[in-house]
Parts: sequence; structure tokens; C-alpha cells
Amino acid sequence: MPNSRYFSVILLLVSFAISAEAARCSVCKNALSGSYLTAEGKSFCSKLCHRRTLPTCASCKEHVSGSFVISEGKSYCGKKCLNISLPKCTLCAQPLRQMFTINGKKYCKAHADGHRCFGCGLPFDAGKLLKDGRKQCATCAKSAIFDPANGLARLRQARAQLKAVTGIVSASLPKLKLVDRPSLLRVMGEQGHMPDQMTARGFYRRNERTETRSFAGRVVSADTEVSETIFILSGLTPDQFLITAIHELTHDLISETYRPIADLPRDLEEGLCQYTAAMYCRKQGWMQDYITIDKSPDPIYGGGFRKVHKRFGNHNWKAIDRWLRTR
Ligand SMILES: [Zn+2]
Ligand SMILES: [Zn+2]
Ligand SMILES: [Zn+2]
Ligand SMILES: [Zn+2]
Ligand SMILES: [Zn+2]
Repeated sequence: MPNSRYFSVILLLVSFAISAEAARCSVCKNALSGSYLTAEGKSFCSKLCHRRTLPTCASCKEHVSGSFVISEGKSYCGKKCLNISLPKCTLCAQPLRQMFTINGKKYCKAHADGHRCFGCGLPFDAGKLLKDGRKQCATCAKSAIFDPANGLARLRQARAQLKAVTGIVSASLPKLKLVDRPSLLRVMGEQGHMPDQMTARGFYRRNERTETRSFAGRVVSADTEVSETIFILSGLTPDQFLITAIHELTHDLISETYRPIADLPRDLEEGLCQYTAAMYCRKQGWMQDYITIDKSPDPIYGGGFRKVHKRFGNHNWKAIDRWLRTR
């Protein structure tokens, strides 16, 4: 919040006879005659000379006049010049004496307190209300994924990106279901009751069903049927969808590649899924998304990621692979 103070410099008009030698303008050094001006113990031949002793405006670069504003250590001619220099609200362009920063963008109080998009987390003016009560800004709505075919294409893209991060492709692509928020929380069950429930965007479910046929008390054949489903919140933007899908596909990769070898504690498994998503964000240069993963206060997601990242550093699935196989 800029801290500004108004100042006025009082100029006095003095008029009396002066000895020619003693009195000179403190700026131009010309001799003063008849009437002249004084301010703060100095004499000036004209308003113009006096003005040259005043600070220059940080905005228009002119010398300020009799009254001016000092804000954050800088001087301005007046309110108009001060407002030009102030940051503006991203939405209403109002100059901000009091500023609210959300995801690196600046907002006025009214917009910071108003509704936020479930996707990008930013305040907005134009947008829409989804059936399940989520609010979405017009920018996110433009590319939001509601269509299953579009979702499937993005899931395939996420699988290719996960391969680029880990060097591994899991055997089969899980089924994709785009769901609204209540449905996602329902399938997540217990795991939906997490502190950042509002940010839950995906879930991986794996069911194994073994059917055995026996003859005379002896098992003659056993078939294990595996069904894998990835649930992803409908209406995500392609970027959010990819980050989420990479996380969920990592669950699938772990199930198929490492689960038979090692049973992982939950924070470590979620941490590994966040790790691949975070490495993808770094590759894309999406540092805001990377920071969101890295700084998550959640002990499972944030804590798990930090554990993995501290031990293996960036882009090092090779070492993680070795470690998982020898645990
Ligand atoms: Zn002068
Ligand atoms: Zn100015
Ligand atoms: Zn505003
Ligand atoms: Zn948005
Ligand atoms: Zn997960």
C-alpha cells in the first residue's frame, strides 16, 4: 500500500528596499530588486527560479510546484501524476493505493473480494456458473474441456509427456471419465476429504477382480481382470488437464511397473505423481504451476513431493526408477 503525504511549500512575497550587493537570487544569482520571493530562508527573483529548487516529478519529470505529493520516497506534482505511476487493477484499471496480488496479478479490493475462477484461481468480471456451482472465468471457459473425445486426445498427449519425463509407458491407457465436482468427490471417497478438497482435480481407480474356476476342489484356471479408470474434473483448461492427467497416469505407471515390487506409503506415491507433474511444468516453463506443487501445505501432496524432490532433484526419474526397484 503506497504511503503518500502531501506537502506545500509556502512562498512569501517580500517587498522592501535592499542593498544591491547583499541580495541575489539563490538560483540564477541575479540581483534582487524591488520585490522578491522567499521560501525556507532563501531568496528568489521569480516563481520560476524557486520552482527549480523543488524536486522533479517522478511521473512527468517536471519540477513540482508549490504543493506536491511524496509517495514511497518519490515526489509527484499532484494526484494525477501519482495515479499514473500507481499499479492498476487488472480488471477495472483503477489506480491502486491499496493493492491485492493474486498469482502475480494486481487487483483492487472489490475485485480481490469478489468471485474467483475455480480453474485459474483469479478474480473475474465475465464468466459463467457451472451446474455444480463452480465459477469459471471467460478466459478459462474458452478452452475448457467438457467433451470426452477432446479429453481422450489430451489424455494420450499426457501419456506421451509422462514418457518424456520417465522414459516409461504403461501397458494400457486407462478409461477416462470427465466428471463434475460432486461426482469426483464421491469416487474419491475418503481421499476426497483432504484439506484442499476444492483443488481436487483427478482420481485414479484400479480394480482387480480374480475369477477362479475349480474342478473337484482344485483351481484349474484363474483370470485376473483389471479395470483402470482416470476421473478428471470437467471444464479444466488444456494446461490444467495435462498437469492433472500426468499425475493420475503416474499412479497407473506405479501400479503396473513398481507395485508388484514395493508397496509405497501414500505420501510417497502422491509425491511421485506430483513429481512427474512438476517436472512437466518445469519443462513447459510453467513456474507458477510448479510453485503451487512445491509450496503445497498438504502433508501428503506437498510433503510427499518435497521428500522426492529433495532426494532426487530435477528431471531424475532414472534414479527414482533404480531406487523403487531396489527398495
Ligand atoms: Zn532567479
Ligand atoms: Zn508530474
Ligand atoms: Zn478492480
Ligand atoms: Zn479462469
Ligand atoms: Zn494422486
